[in-house]
Amino acid sequence: VAKNPAQPEFHQAVKEVLESLRVVIEANEDEYRKDALLERLVTPERQILFRVPWVDDKGQVQVNNGFRVQFNSAIGPYKGGLRFHPSVNLGIIKFLGFEQIFKNSLTSLPIGGGKGGSDFDPKGKSDREVMAFCQSFMTELYRHIGADTDVPAGDIGVGGREIGYMYGQYKRIRDVYEGVLTGKGLTYGGSLARTQATGYGLLYLTEELLKCNGSDIKGKTVAVSGAGNVAIYAIEKAQQLGAKPVTCSDSTGWIYDPEGIDVELLKEVKEVKRARLTEYAAARKSAEYHEGKGVWSVKCDVALPCATQNELLLEDAKQLVANGVQAVCEGANMPTSIEATEYLQANKVLFVCGKASNAGGVATSALEMSQNSERLSWTFEEVDSKLKQIMVNIFHSIDDAAKKYGMEGNYVAGANIAGFLKVAEAMKAQGIV
Ligand code: NDP
Repeated sequence: VAKNPAQPEFHQAVKEVLESLRVVIEANEDEYRKDALLERLVTPERQILFRVPWVDDKGQVQVNNGFRVQFNSAIGPYKGGLRFHPSVNLGIIKFLGFEQIFKNSLTSLPIGGGKGGSDFDPKGKSDREVMAFCQSFMTELYRHIGADTDVPAGDIGVGGREIGYMYGQYKRIRDVYEGVLTGKGLTYGGSLARTQATGYGLLYLTEELLKCNGSDIKGKTVAVSGAGNVAIYAIEKAQQLGAKPVTCSDSTGWIYDPEGIDVELLKEVKEVKRARLTEYAAARKSAEYHEGKGVWSVKCDVALPCATQNELLLEDAKQLVANGVQAVCEGANMPTSIEATEYLQANKVLFVCGKASNAGGVATSALEMSQNSERLSWTFEEVDSKLKQIMVNIFHSIDDAAKKYGMEGNYVAGANIAGFLKVAEAMKAQGIV
């Protein structure tokens, strides 16, 4: 804390991981204290901060802050998304980059951890303004990334449009056509099923979790927060698996639709029109719209927080438990506070943290990298079946790790331990770097 003041989200993420690793570290104290392995693990290999000047539609110059934190490259090139949101600061990017190390390790694919972004807000900007910003952002970032060095992707506020503008600028500056970004459009190297991957992957893992605990996703009522990339495809897959998602939300309000969310309408409102959820409510008789927060007050069997960090707090956890929730699986990164997580676990709710349950996105990004390297593209079914297998494997590896260290059913500890062991081995093998 003294070395990195005013980074509460980063401290929260480190605390959560190190608490779970206590049992592993205490059992092998010499091994993990040696050569300051833990200090190196919590210190980014490189942090890049830069200015992003751009010209708005009124001809005025705007200036934003740009970030890329290259956290750990022990098991592969840095990999992790770019977030464009006014709340972005170094502490948030560090928390996301730190989590990414373990998530990427859990996928079993060769990718290290990184994250980046800007406090730029794409909301309400014209396409030209977004392009101007993305080009300026890449004009600095290009020198730090590459297909074998660091491969950024999307995150909050960065979808296909932003990735396209950034890819175009990278190619123009570097004059190489390589898989330097993932989440690309299908006409220029993108992977089928990447758009769906995080949401679909979340449901594949949730399905396996319930199955292994004597239950079934089919017929379950599901509460989802968010209405972006992760939430939309979580809702779609939940329906395909026979569950009934009844909520979604954005930063101004939320929807309760007891007949089940109409996912095509939601896509039209959010992906095509880029509008507010009030438009969903206006077009759908069965839907109620509420201002502010409240998704977790709805009675549900499964809760899937898919919006942003710290959106499910202790009070929400109490409400979910009182309403009989069976499972909470995180689609977003760190949406559940530590207190809420502990409350859910103490009340025997099956709880899986984002670094395991939302790893489908980055796993499919790594599959996009493989396709780019071999200059081939795989079918939707091929990618989707690999994704499903990866998510099922992740569930079993975190379940096994929890059992091995005497914490059966504690999937948070299982995820942190399983993710950590591989990275720690690779770091030890590569010496003090
Ligand atoms: P999007 O930008 O597509 O959607 C984010 C959604 O969350 C929007 O509905 C947004 O509402 C809402 N939201 C964002 N910030 C806030 C806030 N501060 N308060 C309330 N609501 C908010 O992002 P994604 O769906 O891609 O990402 C969602 C989460 O999933 C993030 O935590 C991200 O890190 C994580 N994630 C994403 C992956 C991916 O592949 N996309 C992979 C792994 C994790 P509004 O539109 O009003 O801003």
